[in-house]
Amino acid sequence: MKGNNIVFKFLVGLFSSDMGIDLGTANTLVYVKGKGIILNEPSVVAVTKGSARTVLAVGDEAKRMLGRTPENIIAVRPLRDGVIADFKITEAMLRYFIKKSHAKSFIQPRPRIVIGVPSAITQVEEKAVYDSAIKAGAREVYLIKEPMAAAIGVGLPVSEPSGNMIIDIGGGTTDVAIISLAGIVASKSTRVAGDVLTEAIAQYMKYTYSLMIGERTAENIKIQIGSAFPLEEELSMEVKGRDQITGLPKTLFINSEEIRQALSEHVASIVTTVRATLDVCPPEIAADLVDKGVVLAGGGALLKGLDLLLEEKTGLKVTIADDPLTAVAKGAGKVLEELKILKQVLS
Ligand code: ADP
Ligand code: MG
Repeated sequence: MKGNNIVFKFLVGLFSSDMGIDLGTANTLVYVKGKGIILNEPSVVAVTKGSARTVLAVGDEAKRMLGRTPENIIAVRPLRDGVIADFKITEAMLRYFIKKSHAKSFIQPRPRIVIGVPSAITQVEEKAVYDSAIKAGAREVYLIKEPMAAAIGVGLPVSEPSGNMIIDIGGGTTDVAIISLAGIVASKSTRVAGDVLTEAIAQYMKYTYSLMIGERTAENIKIQIGSAFPLEEELSMEVKGRDQITGLPKTLFINSEEIRQALSEHVASIVTTVRATLDVCPPEIAADLVDKGVVLAGGGALLKGLDLLLEEKTGLKVTIADDPLTAVAKGAGKVLEELKILKQVLS
């Protein structure tokens, strides 16, 4: 009987494709055990306006609708600020991504799921994420704070008795955490992150050139020529938008110096959050950080020169994670592969 049970468990495990999910404010990634990251889509849902709020599209398809929706449709980011603005929509999104990750399997699996959640979410919100995953078919659900998952994902030795610092700059939030012995020793979170930088560029274009640009264009400028520190070779690019005065389409050239200036106030605020975390860090751990440095993760880690600016302002060595956008999903995946770690770092 016992033997049968083991065989049964083995088979369930084999076919149920356990998952690690990074439920980010900007992007959701799904890691499937044994396969790696198989889904990476924006955390966006297109819904009808009004009280019914029928879900029309999720992920890539919904993001394409952002800023281009007809009057009766809106595209929403349910986790935009790192807190869940709409439980129902978040649940629909999670359900869709879980289903989609299973599209290719021929039996209906009941996976075990590890979900990375924003560090600022409340217990009520955590419960909502947990319930959504169960409703979406999960057999077991474990929640892990995103900075912890990111630290594991980039390979930091989180369970050792020594300090590790991770800075995760996502779309809606920047999370700074110092981890030792599988626990978060000190942490700070701020809403100043990728979205705020994008918005600052749109504002700059509007006030300086009377040029109205959409969110996607502003994000593009940030990715292509945005920076936090003087570049070896300054960059420029062409931008198209609508002239606020004439109402007509207009094209102009901008350079990386002016964009750096436009971003500087918010970048400084990220630096302040990092320094504030160091301020409350126990001295022994601060000493570890001098030796080990700091790791940058999340899409915001790719802002040009941010590592150099942080080095200058903290005096610590700053390393950008390999593929910073996938750190949390990889961490959630690693935790799945070794449930031992999970028991230690459970949220
Ligand atoms: P989240 O975990 O909140 O979903 P991500 O870690 O996926 O966020 O990062 C998304 C953010 O990273 C967005 O604000 C995006 O504009 C920004 N981003 C992505 N690539 C770059 C880049 N090359 N330079 C600057 N910012 C970037
Ligand atoms: Mg993230």
